[in-house]
Amino acid sequence: MYGINTLQEAIIHFSKYENCYALMVHLRWPDGKVSCPYCGSERVTYLAKARVWKCYTGHEKPRFSLKTGTIFEDSPLGLDKWLPALWLVVNCKNGISSCELARDLGVTQKTAWFMAHRLRFALKDGGFSLLSGEVEADETFIGGKARNMHVSKRKRRITGTGTKDKIAVMGILERGGEVRTTVVSNRRKSVLQGEVRKHVEAGAALYTDALLSYEGLASQYAHQVVDHAVEYVSGCVHTNGLENYWSLLKRGISGTYVSVEPFHLFRYLDEQSFRYNNRKDMNDSARFTLALSKITGKRLTYRHLTGKELEAPPAPAVN
Ligand SMILES: [Zn+2]
Repeated sequence: MYGINTLQEAIIHFSKYENCYALMVHLRWPDGKVSCPYCGSERVTYLAKARVWKCYTGHEKPRFSLKTGTIFEDSPLGLDKWLPALWLVVNCKNGISSCELARDLGVTQKTAWFMAHRLRFALKDGGFSLLSGEVEADETFIGGKARNMHVSKRKRRITGTGTKDKIAVMGILERGGEVRTTVVSNRRKSVLQGEVRKHVEAGAALYTDALLSYEGLASQYAHQVVDHAVEYVSGCVHTNGLENYWSLLKRGISGTYVSVEPFHLFRYLDEQSFRYNNRKDMNDSARFTLALSKITGKRLTYRHLTGKELEAPPAPAVN
């Protein structure tokens, strides 16, 4: 895809405006019909020399560029800098050196640092696209390892109920796709259903256990329930994907994780879900395109990126 495998290749590729154009148009307007990001009108013409489109609806600021409506919009830096920077941020496993980025992009180190910071911030929230297809929702409790605590802390913590220190975590997993986890204040209907609606596309197949809090989702989802008091799997109705995820998560936590402060927990959850959602079967190109789709607000599923190669469209006639 795009024929890019290294940062150097990304820099060379995106130094050509036609390549930035092809990629951004492909992501933002996949049917090829460019529409105004302000009003949605397709009555636009491309002004090649200025590299902007003009909208004819008659509103203020009728011109827009490839960057308008993305996190790049208010930056004076061009896509020839931003796109390679994104490439590096999403694909560099051991963190990114702003010195290296500055040298390669020909910007100051301060600028490079700012770019990397902004890109990471934009990518941090995984909730840009909705989960779809077959989706599992489940909760678990984490924490409460009172025996590892200092005695004075333990006295403060142990209240007799045994669950006071436990933090409820909700997970939503698209089979073959992403997982999303959130610390929740309780397991009431409004909380759990709110999370489902926030993350899952209407019409998706939704599998949960028989917890009453999930009752009432059938109006929006193909909701099927497995009653864990009776059985754990009924055909495709199960939450085993999440059960596996929880056991991995808890294995990672035990040993190192003693404190049950929610603040540390959700950082850990984010780190784990990022790792899970960026597994090895996703190559650098796919990871880059996924990241870019988040930044431009275009919805692409994990399956789109891994199951089927996205072909770069032919370069447009721009001069
Ligand atoms: Zn317009």
